[in-house]
Amino acid sequence: MALPFETMSDADTLSFDLPKVRGRYQYDVLLKSLTWFSVGGPASILFKPKDLDDLIFFLKSNTLPIFTLGAGSNIIIRDGGIRGITLRLIGDFSQIVVKDHIVEVGAGCLDRTLALTCQSHGLSGLEFFISIPGTIGGALAMNAGAYGVETKDRLLWAEAVTPNGEIHRLSADEMGFGYRKCSVPKDWIFTKAAFYTTQAPQEEIQRRMQDILERRQETQPVKGRTGGSTFKNPENDSAWKLIDEAGCRGLMQGDAVISEKHCNFMMNLGNASAKDLEDLGDKVRQRVLETSGVTLDWEILRVGEYY
Ligand SMILES: Cc1cc2nc3c(=O)[nH]c(=O)nc-3n(C[C@H](O)[C@H](O)[C@H](O)COP(=O)(O)OP(=O)(O)OC[C@H]3O[C@@H](n4cnc5c(N)ncnc54)[C@H](O)[C@@H]3O)c2cc1C
Repeated sequence: MALPFETMSDADTLSFDLPKVRGRYQYDVLLKSLTWFSVGGPASILFKPKDLDDLIFFLKSNTLPIFTLGAGSNIIIRDGGIRGITLRLIGDFSQIVVKDHIVEVGAGCLDRTLALTCQSHGLSGLEFFISIPGTIGGALAMNAGAYGVETKDRLLWAEAVTPNGEIHRLSADEMGFGYRKCSVPKDWIFTKAAFYTTQAPQEEIQRRMQDILERRQETQPVKGRTGGSTFKNPENDSAWKLIDEAGCRGLMQGDAVISEKHCNFMMNLGNASAKDLEDLGDKVRQRVLETSGVTLDWEILRVGEYY
């Protein structure tokens, strides 16, 4: 049974005897290089398991809290970093296997890589993944979606491992998907998923992906240090409109700014801290509440310790 994060100190986490795995442990690793916002303090221990058996072996004797990090594209890791284990699924967890119209993919695979692989096999349905900069694990956790299609729409099943090392296969219905969320327990680790696709000419798929990328570049600051949409759209409303009406376009806190191009995007202009970004987001929420009476919900996750 893992200890809760708040009971751990750095010394606690480092003094633990870690299971002898085939993968890799790294200590005191700055996480800012692993997040899109380019902010975040250190991970006490960064663990990259070799493969699924290695992960399960680790989980069966681990007692430390675990946070699973994908591509860090929807997250502010706080300046104090993450205590316990930060888990990253790479290598073996990025494989793609195409079986007729079914595509099985590891949770560490980038969404974009999956979209391109499907295109090269003439398989359509997952084009929306071309513009989402996360991993499949992150897409399952967040029910990532764009331009009217969400992860849930093409999912056959997902596999997850519990903190005790048990594997579960969940159907799309069992995932309990909602708007940018699923209801699978937060401490389960997605390892694999299968999506269904339909046959289509490669050029047509290519055109669709190109169209998505162009639309995005016109309207969103996709090349900067950002985390995508900051807040969820309230029912029957748009977060960006409420933010604009509250006069927050271009609002700054240190080097953190509300994008002029798309005001539901926050940017790190270079030296913003996680605190700058989080404070700026909270300031926007406060101003929107005052002007429109609507409480915006964060879409971007904030994790870790403040200092
Ligand atoms: C420029 C830009 C554009 C974006 N556009 C979109 C968009 O159009 N649509 C959209 O939905 N999102 C968008 N996003 C947000 C983000 O890309 C998605 O939410 C993505 O799915 C997050 O995946 P990740 O691997 O980066 O997850 P992370 O940001 O690393 O983590 C997000 C959450 O997923 C969990 N997680 C990650 N991997 C696993 C796993 N294997 N098992 C269990 N939990 C896991 C983490 O614990 C965390 O809770 C955008 C972001 C950026 C920077």
